[in-house]
Amino acid sequence: SEGTGRFIVGGNWKCNGTRESVKALVEALNKNVPNIEKNCDIYCCPTFLHLPYVKDNLNERFNVCAQNSWVEADLVDPEHHYDSTTGAFTGEISAEMLEDLQVPFVLLGHSERRTLLGDTDEIVGKKVAHARYHGLSVVVCVGETLEERENGTTFDVIFKQLKAVAKEIDDREHSSWGSSVVIAYEPIWAIGTGKVATPEQVQEVHSKIRSWLAENVSEDVAKATRIQYGGSVNASNCADLAKLSDIDGFLVGGASLNGDDFAAICNASS
Ligand code: PGA
Repeated sequence: SEGTGRFIVGGNWKCNGTRESVKALVEALNKNVPNIEKNCDIYCCPTFLHLPYVKDNLNERFNVCAQNSWVEADLVDPEHHYDSTTGAFTGEISAEMLEDLQVPFVLLGHSERRTLLGDTDEIVGKKVAHARYHGLSVVVCVGETLEERENGTTFDVIFKQLKAVAKEIDDREHSSWGSSVVIAYEPIWAIGTGKVATPEQVQEVHSKIRSWLAENVSEDVAKATRIQYGGSVNASNCADLAKLSDIDGFLVGGASLNGDDFAAICNASS
């Protein structure tokens, strides 16, 4: 299969930053605004705490993206409950608040949230639907552990993660899925390890995700959905990966904390 021809590169800042380091990173990015001719969306994910500052100070070429949003695990009915997730949920941030702040993107189901913070496939599906209900574009992360890859269950895991999302997106939403739902394939064994997946491994998974979307959502959605690769992407390995036909961009962790490196990765798409 083939990619969409539209690129999208994200920088996941994770739980990093002080007021001083965030200001320095914003300044470094503003000095390095990628000058890509190709159609390419770019987003940066600061912590919730730094989000308003980054939104107000980062060049508009970069979108801001939240790293998560809250949803109740038993939320079932979009018509009646999706607009009521504010309230007595101490310590949480709801998609309504992101909508109010005009944050255009939210990252959902990152493996660190799945493995350390209790986000199940089902909750990730509900978070996606709720964020879409509030007009946010979503980046949904999927990916297998090393153990799952070694015991041959990579695709069972990824398809189960995708199914939980597709199930929560209703028919009306399917028509806009292609432009507003991005899938990030992030093999857990490649995240923060310096051990990048091989181009063959990435191509295989991306093409199977696209076939899964064609069979389980629609052909149009499969053609329009951008699939990012994430896991130890850096300024020196991105060019080879960007050549793969089924890669529509990158989700970058560690290297996104360096303005020069992140700009170089964005520019690898041209
Ligand atoms: P990494 O993280 O680039 O540091 O491997 C990627 C991610 O977790 O999104």
